[in-house]
Amino acid sequence: MNESHKYKLVFFHLPKNAGVSVRRAIGIDRKSHKFPFTNVSVALGIDVKANTLDSIYESYHKFAIVRNPYERMVSLYNFRKQGNDLYDYANLKESDFKSKEELQNSPNIEYWKKLQDIYNTGDIFAILKQRCGNCAAFNITDKMRDCIKKGIGDEAPAEPIIKVGEIGYCRFLKFKCAAARTCQAWVSGGPIKD
Ligand code: SF4
Repeated sequence: MNESHKYKLVFFHLPKNAGVSVRRAIGIDRKSHKFPFTNVSVALGIDVKANTLDSIYESYHKFAIVRNPYERMVSLYNFRKQGNDLYDYANLKESDFKSKEELQNSPNIEYWKKLQDIYNTGDIFAILKQRCGNCAAFNITDKMRDCIKKGIGDEAPAEPIIKVGEIGYCRFLKFKCAAARTCQAWVSGGPIKD
């Protein structure tokens, strides 16, 4: 899936580490490789292994690239500005909070302020839109939802719970989660869907 036959390399693409340029440089052709994710950088090491022929995985060199963390954040900032993906999906609409004054009365305001500090932004509405539902780790494919349904079993009506709660699976933290939630590991570019 992430292999370069030209250089006999298997590449682990970490988000915002110049992975697209690396892929181009070593000639990874996405079209000719089986690739189950819309966003290549959410593939974990285990996914790369599972989607690479054993003979290739064993014989090719394997590598990843990391960059200076400050440069990485600049890259993330530019990426978000370009794609404006923070605004593609959010459970909350701006109209849910008609004003900053109304927001101040939200029971969770301290939590959101803390996140605002962490992301160092004055725009609390942008922070409010960073949800599991648009996180690159959030998997809502049919296959994953079928698996969640089986996990719920007969204990509760699985279908409506998944639908109403917009339930998916967090590939980073490895648990079942709802679209409206968030955490400090949030990454833009999601969700993973069919
Ligand atoms: S729990 Fe965090 S990392 Fe996982 S999907 Fe939600 S925001 Fe993303």
